[in-house]
Amino acid sequence: MEHKLLKLLLVEDDQNFGLSISKFLARARRVFFTVEQVFTLQEGLSRLSSATFDVVLLDLTLPDSQGIESVNLILEMNLRIPIIVLTGEDEALAIEALHLGVQDYIQKGDFDLRALERIILYAVERQELMTRVKDQRDLLNQRAADLETSNARFASLGYTLAHDLSEPLRTISSYLHLLRKKSLDRLTEKELEYLDMATSGSQRMALLIKDLYEYSQIDGKSQFVSVDLNLVISEVLVNLRKAVEDSQAEILMDTLPVVMGCKSQLIMLFQNLISNSLRYKKPDLKTIIKIEALESQNEFLISVSDNGIGINSKFLNEIFEPFRRLHSMDDYPGSGIGLASCKRIMEYHQGRIWAQSEIASGSNFYVAFPPKE
Ligand code: ADP
Repeated sequence: MEHKLLKLLLVEDDQNFGLSISKFLARARRVFFTVEQVFTLQEGLSRLSSATFDVVLLDLTLPDSQGIESVNLILEMNLRIPIIVLTGEDEALAIEALHLGVQDYIQKGDFDLRALERIILYAVERQELMTRVKDQRDLLNQRAADLETSNARFASLGYTLAHDLSEPLRTISSYLHLLRKKSLDRLTEKELEYLDMATSGSQRMALLIKDLYEYSQIDGKSQFVSVDLNLVISEVLVNLRKAVEDSQAEILMDTLPVVMGCKSQLIMLFQNLISNSLRYKKPDLKTIIKIEALESQNEFLISVSDNGIGINSKFLNEIFEPFRRLHSMDDYPGSGIGLASCKRIMEYHQGRIWAQSEIASGSNFYVAFPPKE
């Protein structure tokens, strides 16, 4: 603050009081003050609209305006300048002014002018701080509003896409099916192979549309309730019964906690993790999947681990991005959206998700939920 110049507007009808203020501030040690005195509120307002000041000292008993009215008229100008009010005996009035947004007050009667420099400097600092906090809050609110708009747009785009693309895709699939059936004995082996490739392409596209649709519909609007994760896993295992039976996987499970959340999203989360563990298995090894509740301070930590093919540790963050896949479609079909959905779900639950793995040594996925309030 050294050698800073502060322009002060003094709105005060008592010329002598104004002079003593100017005199004291002329001797200020940390700042150079320039003081301009006006004698009515109207003059004050007109100076504030035509020139820039760093601080206003405002008397609450002026010839043309009394009390809080003067404060309101200056605040309405939205100048972001600190205001310090000068009052007589009436401290209640000064406190009312503080509530409206003035930075400080001075009671003229018993006021020690030596404190003035400090009061002004604090008021300026506080105002700067408040302005910065307000700007940050406005920015944050703006970002939240933008995000909500873009999420809503994304959700409706997902719905439209899924709807509009599914229809022609269904037509393509059924004509491919028909063509195969009608011309089976006329087509060469090569031609049949082309037909099958077209069919599997349309199936992959159907899967992609379905997953993309589900991803776009994950939002933060659902009401959170207590969700028993044991029931979540039971439902997931019902949904995945065929895949579990086909792979003859063994699933070991701890007793899991109850967390705050959206049940359908949590089913989607664990279904993605467990179905990945079922799919990314080692061909010659019985799949073992463990779902464990781990000790952790201040959060509910769950792990889903498998003894499958593992993940190159370089890509452990990337796999949570949409469409990021580490395998070819032929080896392991998938849309590359499952883990991105999991990440989105955990963001809405104000939790975290991450993975630990090495190639060929299984994978551990962790989800951490915040504690219940
Ligand atoms: P998808 O499985 O449809 O490709 P995901 O988003 O679920 O999409 O997974 C992204 C990638 O992460 C997968 O393509 C795979 O390479 C890798 N991955 C996910 N889970 C496992 C797992 N349990 N074991 C090995 N690799 C995995």
